[in-house]
Amino acid sequence: MTRDISNLVSQMTLEEKAGLCSGLDAWRTKPVERLDIPSIMMTDGPHGLRKQIPNADLFDVINSVPATCFPSGAGLACSWNRNLIEKVGVALGKEAKAEKVSIVLGPAANIKRSPLCGRNFEYFSEDPYLSSEMAASHIKGVQSQGVGTSLKHFAANNQEHRRMTVDVIIDERTLREIYLASFEDAVKKAKPWTVMCAYNKINGQYCSENEYLLNDILKEEWGHEGFVISDWGAVNERVDGIKAGLELEMPSSEGIRDKEIVDAIKSGKLKEEVLDKTVERLLKIIFKGYENIEEGSTFDIEEHHNLAREVARESMVLLKNDDNILPLKKEGTIALMGAFAKHTRFQGAGSSHITPTKLDNMFEGIVSAVEGKAQILYTEGYSLDTDDVDEKLIEEAKEYAKRADVAVIFAGLPDSYESEGYDRDHISMPENHRRLIEAVSEVQKKVVVVLSNGSPIEMPWINNVKGVLETYLGGQAVGKAVADILFGEANPCGKLAETFPQKLNHNPSYLNFPGEGDRVTYSEGIFVGYRYYDEKDIEPLFPFGYGLSYTKFEYTDISIDKKDVLDNETVNVSVKVKNTGKMAGKEIVQLYVKDIESSVRRPQKELKGFEKIELLPGEEKIVTFTLDKRAFAYYNENIKDWYVESGYFEILIGKSSREIVLKEIVKVNSTVKIVTKYNRNSTAGDIMADSYGASIFKPMLKEYAKKIGIDIEQVKDGSSDIVTAMIKYMPLRVLPFFSKGLFSEEMLDELLSKINANS
Ligand code: BGC
Repeated sequence: MTRDISNLVSQMTLEEKAGLCSGLDAWRTKPVERLDIPSIMMTDGPHGLRKQIPNADLFDVINSVPATCFPSGAGLACSWNRNLIEKVGVALGKEAKAEKVSIVLGPAANIKRSPLCGRNFEYFSEDPYLSSEMAASHIKGVQSQGVGTSLKHFAANNQEHRRMTVDVIIDERTLREIYLASFEDAVKKAKPWTVMCAYNKINGQYCSENEYLLNDILKEEWGHEGFVISDWGAVNERVDGIKAGLELEMPSSEGIRDKEIVDAIKSGKLKEEVLDKTVERLLKIIFKGYENIEEGSTFDIEEHHNLAREVARESMVLLKNDDNILPLKKEGTIALMGAFAKHTRFQGAGSSHITPTKLDNMFEGIVSAVEGKAQILYTEGYSLDTDDVDEKLIEEAKEYAKRADVAVIFAGLPDSYESEGYDRDHISMPENHRRLIEAVSEVQKKVVVVLSNGSPIEMPWINNVKGVLETYLGGQAVGKAVADILFGEANPCGKLAETFPQKLNHNPSYLNFPGEGDRVTYSEGIFVGYRYYDEKDIEPLFPFGYGLSYTKFEYTDISIDKKDVLDNETVNVSVKVKNTGKMAGKEIVQLYVKDIESSVRRPQKELKGFEKIELLPGEEKIVTFTLDKRAFAYYNENIKDWYVESGYFEILIGKSSREIVLKEIVKVNSTVKIVTKYNRNSTAGDIMADSYGASIFKPMLKEYAKKIGIDIEQVKDGSSDIVTAMIKYMPLRVLPFFSKGLFSEEMLDELLSKINANS
């Protein structure tokens, strides 16, 4: 139904307009009954619906209506499967619709800057391209059902410590290339109805009143047409927020902000046109949400549970599989140990906590999978109430391990270790989990560890075990999904969306996390995740993009359709992939780009494409990628735009970020001319590096150069000769008197006016 929104706004009183800019309560917008403006509801997100039961307190994250709990963002991203994430979105959209919810608060696309961030389990990746692609698929799925999303938390919300007040100090290039890029494509491609601004400040200004972030970048540059919601309690100065592009404050401000807005209009501090625009944006989405609500909308619990199982299978990452210990055979005696087997940790804590419609634990999943063909032993191994080692439980586990043909240990991080609201301060697992693995592996050679954790852990025991399966927080169907993988009903096909470091202090943010007081400086810059480990040549425990399969893939025949292009053209790259093993499987083919020579520091490689394909044994497929300007560009702070420096780039095809199997080279030529204005403080070397500048400067400097015996060409390229090297970095202003007039003031003026006139 088309509606004349601006006419409607003109009929609203100032108080009604101000009122619409904050919530009715914790989850709903305010209705204006007089004008038939409805109220819509929004609830969490992101990997399942958290609709609180009526009258629950804002901080009650436990009591919500049953909904399907899918694997959380950390796992979803390891599937690298756009279609599958979209299917999760569709299911979530259906469940929201059945509950008359118009906006799901998610997905969460913050970058994993440190493995310590308590909310990493909700976030996708350390890489902005992968994160943004995953978020876009999630949004497309939900919104296909006529339910909106709220892409969160915009932006640079990468820690929980002092999250509501911390000031993130970050340079513009890093912000653009890493932290905003993680949202950018999701906004541009998938058009989320709303975006949720983060709690923190960026460079001194709260995200909720950050004009550069909300108006300039999100709305103007990226073309976002919906509205911005504050994270719950993120508003500092409400009127500044309205001016900066924050339309809706959540939750209710109990009338306090309505009055502030009305007063600001009356005093002239805020223009009424600005408020009207805010209200227009709100109304467009409110009506869209309302009109999509359907009475009697339902969903199929069983179907969604099965989808959760499929997604869990695709999200798990097989980290180690020595001697092909996996898949296990359904025979002999299998000892299961670790309380997580029966008390499976399948989700994280905080606002994303879901009441699942059903729950498969890992123990039952395995017992039902073996169909009585193998004998199953079970022992707890550790207590869930403490981290302390219980020697009796350890002894029992050792006894069981000796009696069995293989031991499968369930371990990881308990709930209290990672949560919204606080960060970890180490990446160790509890002492009793670690001890169980070490003790059992002393008496049994065949040990497989199944991990449940939302973020990386150290694995000092890695060499003692043969198999490791990372399940992250696998959602309500993880129990059966684990059994599917362990017994080979499904072939593992997830790859890590983040680096697992060997030690916490290898992580790039280590020296500056979580900052001091209310200030955290992102001094590692663009070198986040694998970008850092590559550059510093630090061997991670498991690299970004890594994951094993029960089959093998062979990559051949890389080809590229153009070898020399302009930056406004696209390049197509294709590669042949064959399943050379005995089992059907899926492979994630990754494409990275490396700028071979650059005048600015750039990472060794950056992910710019990926495809997940399915291959039967012996089958082969051609995978094609299309690269555009952004695949080669960096953010140039001088021109405030993405810029490709002309030159050669390597296209790297990899099975992981550390296993590059094929390469090609392409030359990309910039269509943008960067205009540099020179002044008296420009250096002789800078002028010599500019071909036009050099053509004028050289003859002018000739007399002086002759006198002191320097080779002018070397001033550009650098020389070990001390005088030449010093001249290179000399500002022009000193030349008239250093040269005793051989290069005069007049010559300096003439030089500057000629080269600046040419630019
Ligand atoms: C979280 C958001 C969440 C909101 C509503 C906030 O504390 O940061 O992610 O959507 O609460 O529960």
